[in-house]
Amino acid sequence: MLSNTPIWDDGQSLPLSPLDGDVETDVCVIGLGGSGLTALDELTTMGRRAVGIDARGIAPGAAGRNGGLLLGGTVDFHHDAITVIGRDRAVGIYRETMDEIRRIDEQAPGAVRHTGSIRLSSGAGEDTDITRQRTAMLADGIRCELYDGPLGHGIFMPDDACFNPQQRCHALARRVIAQGAQLYTHTSASSYSATEVHTARGTIRCAQVIVAVDGRLETLVPELAGTVRTARLQMLATAPVAERLFPAPMSARYGFDYWQQTPDGSVAFGGGRDHSVETEWTNDAEPTEKIQGYLEQALREQLQVTAPITHRWAASVSYTETGLPVFQELHPGLWVIGGYSGTGNAMGALCGRAAARATSGETTAFARLLVNHG
Ligand SMILES: Cc1cc2nc3c(=O)[nH]c(=O)nc-3n(C[C@H](O)[C@H](O)[C@H](O)COP(=O)(O)OP(=O)(O)OC[C@H]3O[C@@H](n4cnc5c(N)ncnc54)[C@H](O)[C@@H]3O)c2cc1C
Repeated sequence: MLSNTPIWDDGQSLPLSPLDGDVETDVCVIGLGGSGLTALDELTTMGRRAVGIDARGIAPGAAGRNGGLLLGGTVDFHHDAITVIGRDRAVGIYRETMDEIRRIDEQAPGAVRHTGSIRLSSGAGEDTDITRQRTAMLADGIRCELYDGPLGHGIFMPDDACFNPQQRCHALARRVIAQGAQLYTHTSASSYSATEVHTARGTIRCAQVIVAVDGRLETLVPELAGTVRTARLQMLATAPVAERLFPAPMSARYGFDYWQQTPDGSVAFGGGRDHSVETEWTNDAEPTEKIQGYLEQALREQLQVTAPITHRWAASVSYTETGLPVFQELHPGLWVIGGYSGTGNAMGALCGRAAARATSGETTAFARLLVNHG
């Protein structure tokens, strides 16, 4: 098995150090993935002093190891989201994610590609579901076209996008540092309250704290043990393929499988969790033979990609029952965000931004939609 390294890893890291000594700030953000970094961006834009820490580095977890799809809406397809959370909220959240994709592009120039995305049908049953999705989207003024290509038919969402997740997080980290945030890597929060975050070599004293952690959230915040559950998601990637095989990032089998072809031609392919659901509810983040075997077979047979596999990797995310993320003031001044159910690129950024605003007593339109006051 190849070492657990994502294709996005270009060997570059920002020259950051662990915290050594005590510091004082307005807000401390725990977790330097896309969500925590976006919270820091919003905080520093608002002129607040902010410190961010990560147990490892910049986006060492799911935020830097994902499929890179930037899709509109919640984890549910639009028609399902309407059933679960109601039409107004589903449409409102969809629009918010579209706006967030545009902001991610502005914050990380060059990382985002406005490709749209394709949902492929796996057969007659999924055809019906896809028709329902398209009908609901068009009824709500969301663009959705029919798609027919070499791999099959489905729908094309022209406003979706994709990105290189590590490039995005590194750009965001550089941006927040330039805006005055202090970032410390290899700095784990061993305990925390709303006003103090303790680490091995220093304490951060602050007025408020944002915990921005997706995978293993319930380990860091045991109060959420019944609300979120950690799962492992896995991917592989190939050497560059000269031919442009896929016009846009794609998903298939109700979103269980997903892939994109990177600008250099490599195919990054993930999914298959439904092939071993029980083993994938785990805190472990190492690739397994079973899921990797499924991915390899599907890559060869369904995607018809023959290029050698160069990367195999996994990471942790957490799921919620409702498919809506955790966005909660656990105790006064202690905000927790996470639980994106496998689709946290845009949703996590929205939560990070909303949590940053919440530390100043402001409520964003997105936060209102989440807590059902939309
Ligand atoms: C294989 C895979 C494919 C995916 N594909 C997609 C996709 O295509 N599109 C999409 O939208 N989403 C996708 N996701 C989900 C998405 O990656 C995540 O929801 C999102 O990146 C979460 O980012 P985050 O910043 O909230 O959390 P995380 O990436 O989990 O970051 C949290 C950070 O907190 C740090 N941390 C944890 N505990 C502590 C502590 N005690 N002290 C200090 N730091 C701590 C961690 O080191 C970590 O860096 C995928 C996920 C995976 C794993």
